[in-house]
Amino acid sequence: MDVHIDRDQNEATEDQNQDKKSDSWIENELGAQCAQFKGEQTNREQTGQTKKGDGKEPSDIDTKTEEFIKLLMEQNPDRSESVLSQMAAEGNERSPTLIRLAKEFEKRWTSEQPKPVNEQSVSQFLLGDTLQKISNQFESLSWPEETKDASVIYAEWLRAQNDANNNPKSRIRAAELREKLNVINTKREKFLNEHIKPILEDAGVKLPDFQFKIVQSLENRAADSEYEMANGTISILEVSALRQGTHPTAILCASTMHELAHHDQNALIIRELADELQINKDRLRLNYYESIGHNLDEKLLKGVLQWRDQVLSNKPLTEGEHKRAIAFIESFHDFFKPPVETSLMMRQREQLKSYISAFDSDRPINDLLEVKNPHQRERKLEYLLDKIPEEIAQDLKILEQAEQAEQAEQAEQAKKDMSSRVKKLDKELRDKLKPELDSKAAVLGAELMAKYLARAHEREAHPVGHRTYFFAKLHERRR
Ligand SMILES: [Zn+2]
Repeated sequence: MDVHIDRDQNEATEDQNQDKKSDSWIENELGAQCAQFKGEQTNREQTGQTKKGDGKEPSDIDTKTEEFIKLLMEQNPDRSESVLSQMAAEGNERSPTLIRLAKEFEKRWTSEQPKPVNEQSVSQFLLGDTLQKISNQFESLSWPEETKDASVIYAEWLRAQNDANNNPKSRIRAAELREKLNVINTKREKFLNEHIKPILEDAGVKLPDFQFKIVQSLENRAADSEYEMANGTISILEVSALRQGTHPTAILCASTMHELAHHDQNALIIRELADELQINKDRLRLNYYESIGHNLDEKLLKGVLQWRDQVLSNKPLTEGEHKRAIAFIESFHDFFKPPVETSLMMRQREQLKSYISAFDSDRPINDLLEVKNPHQRERKLEYLLDKIPEEIAQDLKILEQAEQAEQAEQAEQAKKDMSSRVKKLDKELRDKLKPELDSKAAVLGAELMAKYLARAHEREAHPVGHRTYFFAKLHERRR
């Protein structure tokens, strides 16, 4: 299953610890400039140095704003667009700066054709004003009337569910509310299935059939949504579909479009294989499995081939589309079967994460690291941290000596004393180790995130999600 996320637009992440990437990036890289820029603008707006309140939209872009736009454009799109998303979410909608930035980027995103890589074609979502049209229409939808109380029911269910183990009444209440929520979910699924497709058609988007599913949990616990390559299903996390009132949120809109970008890619891959294999379905499914590791559903395959026939008049891929398809086959393969180095990093990080949570307990280090002796302990820490910091290496030696002294001691009282010394050293070392493990996990997380974002299919889907969020958020705020 392919895993994709747009949680509060804090970046798609492959797992939970990474979803602060956007914040930390803003702090670390563009941070100072971004903060300064925002601060200066707020200042000037507050002191009335910029024109406002005259009912006219600001038209001229001042030098500072121009510099800022230039700075944003120099970042890779994923970064610049995530900053803009954040600004759209945080900024004051009457802020002349935000309005100027919004106008400038709307103009650029709707008039500029993205530069193709190696003459590859580009996602139809990134062309012209497609995303703007889609997000505006999406944001004009209201959920079906009879599901209006969804977020209230959901909140009550959550409370009852949390209390269900202690209280039989809560358990019964949770079950009742769950039934109600299931009914609402089905209605909203139906609503999305019925309303999103015409919006896409209106915007001139060509896609084979897909369907929405609202689910209680996703394979990736940090995700809001996922796209299933094998059957063309967009799974939306229940909490994301049910939250906040009467309209689908900008986040939901962005997640949907991110996943639809993957659906578009998937259709292209299937077309590529169909061209290559002259629509031999069995060979196509085998080849698909070998390429990207999913058992392509008969129904999706049939749907794509029919769509290719009827909507695209059996047109084979152009040279540019072919190049784009090959890039996706490679990048999905890399996701399905990561190189050994990446797999090792992932495993190391998983281990770090499981130990980090355990380090809050009072159990001794050997217990926490699941080792039996000082030698194993050192090896394990070397594996986890790649290199044991000097200070910790020394402390490990001191602890080891104390442990040996404890073992060797015969006299009752002296053994007791030694044992409490070991405990003290063990505790001190645990306190020093935890931040080391934390920071190593963060470093690995950032490296894995970079690998994740570098894959061709995410390089394309992320701007789709960010831009959608930006447009949808501005629209949501005007509502
Ligand atoms: Zn994705």
